[in-house]
Amino acid sequence: MVQSTPATQFSLVITNLTPGATDVVLPQQSFKSRPMISQPLESLGQEIRACTLCAAHLPLGPRPVFQMGSTARILIAGQAPGRRVHETGIPFNDPSGDRLRLWLGVDRETFYDPSRMAIVPMGFCYPGTGSSGDLPPRPECAEAWRERVLGGLKKVALTLVIGQYALDWHLRERNRETLTDTVRAWREFQPTVWPLPHPSPRNNLWLKKNPWFEQEILPELRRQVSAVLKSSP
Ligand code: SF4
Repeated sequence: MVQSTPATQFSLVITNLTPGATDVVLPQQSFKSRPMISQPLESLGQEIRACTLCAAHLPLGPRPVFQMGSTARILIAGQAPGRRVHETGIPFNDPSGDRLRLWLGVDRETFYDPSRMAIVPMGFCYPGTGSSGDLPPRPECAEAWRERVLGGLKKVALTLVIGQYALDWHLRERNRETLTDTVRAWREFQPTVWPLPHPSPRNNLWLKKNPWFEQEILPELRRQVSAVLKSSP
């Protein structure tokens, strides 16, 4: 197995830069039954960065934003970049990311270390904005790339599934009728999966209506994230 160096790992954080060397691995999690396909993360990252599959639907054009390293222990399965993330090319580099790091109890250095955390949204490029916020992730993206990316993340021990689109893809029939019900049923998905609402400020009302999330769930989530990070090879 080829170990990534910090320099090459970081090159996978900011897209459209020279990719780093990583190796091929298979996922350990069993909550999904899809067959996983292996490919070196380096070449896969290059392919994704060159993708124009749904360019005709992207108001600002393709700019895939993701982070992955072959030794990552935590996978953040998110939605799609917002405009600010598109502009910087850094995932969760916005108020949603600030809140997510607070939820997880990790600093930016840990969060942006691809040897520890992979960040793989359902759609890699900014999909544009509609009347009620950002549009959904482009469906072509998960179809084209998701299984291949997850197939390269063999060391992942904990997947944080954020928002309805990621919940639908990752949990499938295990999803409850509403996101709230799925999040509330978090114990059913332990110890490998954690369903979460999106940390966007747009969800402030949801957080206010569901105080149990911050009071009961976040302390447990932080404990588990810390334990998984400490167990990193
Ligand atoms: S959103 Fe995904 S499928 Fe569409 S251009 Fe970007 S990387 Fe390709």
